[in-house]
Amino acid sequence: MGSFNRQEYIRQYNRERRNHYRAHGICYNCGEVYAEPGRVLCKTCARKNQARAKRSDPDGEKHKQYLKALRDGRRAAGLCIDCGRPVLEGFTRCAKCVEKRRESTRMYKLRIKIRRQNEQERKRLIHEGLRKD
Ligand SMILES: [Zn+2]
Ligand SMILES: [Zn+2]
Repeated sequence: MGSFNRQEYIRQYNRERRNHYRAHGICYNCGEVYAEPGRVLCKTCARKNQARAKRSDPDGEKHKQYLKALRDGRRAAGLCIDCGRPVLEGFTRCAKCVEKRRESTRMYKLRIKIRRQNEQERKRLIHEGLRKD
């Protein structure tokens, strides 16, 4: 039994457990509840994680720097600054992210426009905005 490496065993066990949770959409941190859609953590663990990150990085400066470095690196490599996929010709983002951004800009402008209108006009605009042209 001399070759039995307990630490390695635990590490392997944890890795498998997390993969299992992840594959089943269960929070991989606590393993007790379903993770948020599209996430690997449940709401509670995500919040805890965030709080921990905030404590070690109160203004989010480190995170901002990390993102900036990531984006600069991607830009230099000709990759989408948001997701790292190859860019769309003439853009700093890939086709998917360009489209995503265009859509969110459109919704943002629409929201501002809607906020300025009266009730009836507002309803019409909301209806129009949901219709894709
Ligand atoms: Zn959890
Ligand atoms: Zn992208």
